[in-house]
Amino acid sequence: MAKFSPFKTTLWYATAPPAPETTELEGTTKADVCIVGGGYTGLTTALELASGGISVVLLEKEEIGFGGSGRNAGHCTPTFTHYSLPELRAMLDEPWAERLIARQTRANDRVSSMIRHYQIQCEWQQNGYVMGAPYPGAMKTIQEKVRTYNAVGARTRALDKDEVAAITGSPRFHGGWLHEEAGHLNPLGYSRGLARAVIQEGGIIHTNSPVTGCERQADGWAISTAKGEVIADKVIFATGAYTVGGWPKLDQTFKIQKVFVAATQPLSDDERQSILPRNTTIHDGRGDIYVYKYNAEGRIVASMFPMGRRGRDMEYTRQVMSDRLKWLHPQIKQEIRWEYFWFGELDMQYRTVPRLYDLATGVVALTGLSGRGVPTGSMLGGILAEWARGVPEKDLSLKLEPLTSAPFYMNYGPKLTLRYYRVSDWIKTKLAGAPLPPHA
Ligand SMILES: Cc1cc2nc3c(=O)[nH]c(=O)nc-3n(C[C@H](O)[C@H](O)[C@H](O)COP(=O)(O)OP(=O)(O)OC[C@H]3O[C@@H](n4cnc5c(N)ncnc54)[C@H](O)[C@@H]3O)c2cc1C
Repeated sequence: MAKFSPFKTTLWYATAPPAPETTELEGTTKADVCIVGGGYTGLTTALELASGGISVVLLEKEEIGFGGSGRNAGHCTPTFTHYSLPELRAMLDEPWAERLIARQTRANDRVSSMIRHYQIQCEWQQNGYVMGAPYPGAMKTIQEKVRTYNAVGARTRALDKDEVAAITGSPRFHGGWLHEEAGHLNPLGYSRGLARAVIQEGGIIHTNSPVTGCERQADGWAISTAKGEVIADKVIFATGAYTVGGWPKLDQTFKIQKVFVAATQPLSDDERQSILPRNTTIHDGRGDIYVYKYNAEGRIVASMFPMGRRGRDMEYTRQVMSDRLKWLHPQIKQEIRWEYFWFGELDMQYRTVPRLYDLATGVVALTGLSGRGVPTGSMLGGILAEWARGVPEKDLSLKLEPLTSAPFYMNYGPKLTLRYYRVSDWIKTKLAGAPLPPHA
């Protein structure tokens, strides 16, 4: 069985502008920095370094965006998943917590300026993100989000029931949270555009070039592939959930969690005026998430996590997706056809924020984005480029730590957490006398 889900069946593969021409690495080449992995983390690091005049070679095992960066759902919300800001501050040491929070909450400035500057064709829309309150009690958490995120400079506000209905076209929410700076995009278009920008800035990219080893030599690190090697002063592994080889045990620093994304047929202009009329991203506010947005053709692109039959029995899964969408938007009368359906892998680790591993002098790795990778991967380039330029550890926005395997409980922790959220939301909705969505 293939280790990763198929890549070429996604909506993005069918609709993204073509990738720039790249070739496999052959022979020996030299660079200041060698980056392994052609996703957002590797590409934004390469772009930052190349545009600053540092010579960079990026090696990608398959093609640009083959990992999460080419197949995600395309939501770009500059927040953290799972943990609140106070919880993150308690979990990450200072000064790293505050620095990481500042970078993450400003990540979309970076995304939009790279897209603008390099004219990346990726359907970028910065119309905001709404998280609905599925029952009245959820407004307490939303008020807390407004307070804590606005305190670090984010532009967010609480919405009442009528405002959420006006913005989303759904009558099902008891209020909500609007994050004005959030956006959405075609993720593979964004990855390929970043790759084009790296090349434009003088960086070198080789695809179909899996890294099989990394060894210290007299003149630097030798990063080897089947037909060649790069000799570099510094090496950065940015191989995410799709890590294969390269450095021992790197693929044990996280546990894989599957997630799926599906896209409807294009909706008519009339339908689009009543369903997500402002082209925002919407999260249904449940722990067992249902998140959706439009692509440029007017398809609703929605994602959920597999759970039990959901994700295993495809007919049932499509039915769940349709029933949930029609419940959220009773104005949809027609049959929903999920014309694209694909799975992908997340690199989960228990803190749900990326971790920077000190592998050897001059070699680091970064994994564990845990599902919020579009803004995160885009801002990580800034941190990794600082490391490559020699900024001292104490001044970085992530703490350097020794390579650590993810604890055993991460094999089942994320799945159990989802089930816990599902039951807890069910109970809270029932107790509040609010209607439950189908298959809740
Ligand atoms: C289905 C799905 C939906 C998602 N939805 C969202 C969303 O809506 N919003 C959001 O913010 N995040 C989302 N995410 C998460 C996000 O896509 C990822 O966190 C992010 O793309 C990770 O970027 P990365 O650069 O760290 O890794 P990746 O994009 O996974 O890139 C790593 C690359 O390294 C390469 N590689 C691995 N080993 C080697 C090697 N030995 N040699 C050379 N190359 C190697 C891989 O082939 C891969 O291309 C989603 C993820 C998935 C899978």
